[in-house]
Amino acid sequence: PLPVLESSARTVVLALPIIVVHTLAVSFASYRLIRTVFQQNRQLQEMHRTDAHTGLQARGHWQEQADALLHQHHASGEPACMLMIDIDHFKQINDTHGYTVGDEVIAAVGRTIRSCVRGPDCAGRYGGDEFAVVCGNTLPGEALAIAQRIRHSIEALRLPALEQLRLTTSIGLAPAKGSHRTLRDWLNDTDAALYRAKDGGRNQVWESPSTPAPLLADA
Ligand code: GH3
Ligand code: MG
Repeated sequence: PLPVLESSARTVVLALPIIVVHTLAVSFASYRLIRTVFQQNRQLQEMHRTDAHTGLQARGHWQEQADALLHQHHASGEPACMLMIDIDHFKQINDTHGYTVGDEVIAAVGRTIRSCVRGPDCAGRYGGDEFAVVCGNTLPGEALAIAQRIRHSIEALRLPALEQLRLTTSIGLAPAKGSHRTLRDWLNDTDAALYRAKDGGRNQVWESPSTPAPLLADA
């Protein structure tokens, strides 16, 4: 036969505070643990979204935003524009002044781009010395003004540690089109415009599909 375990009413009453305190302590510890996990998840998401070096959006996150704008263009015809910005002769900067200065240049160019775009625009670091911006609800003329603002601001940029260093960028611009089936198609058009800006002599903005000359190169 099973033993019958019985507690006296006195034992139960005496144990009650311990049971209550223990339960509260365990609940509190669980709550703290869950809160820490949530905070760390948020930090991880933020790290995934942001390029640590420039504070701009990381490539994957930027692509998600660009993809959403392309879908919106297909769905509603809302105009959207993409800019690809590449630092001219960046390799020379690394070779002449070292990789650390190169890193500072990338960070400074990132800050400059951020200061030139508008609130809803998405500016990201695409990779190496290449940056990308997508602007929703924006016509090519407005995007061109942003591109020229970026180009001028980078020409005027001075690194406190290296005052004599002059920087320029080449910029490709492409509006979203119905014929862009995927983000890759839109990126290809923007990249082709950037290539023409490089080929045309750098420090220029060119627009896709094909502009006969750099747009307002001297504006
Ligand atoms: P172009 O005018 O044709 O763009 O010439 P470029 O010298 O800028 O040519 P390219 O874009 O091929 O060179 C990019 C260089 O950037 C090559 C790579 O070593 C360097 N790079 C890529 N990522 C980083 C980085 O995070 N920091 C530094 N310092 N250099 C980087
Ligand atoms: Mg470059």
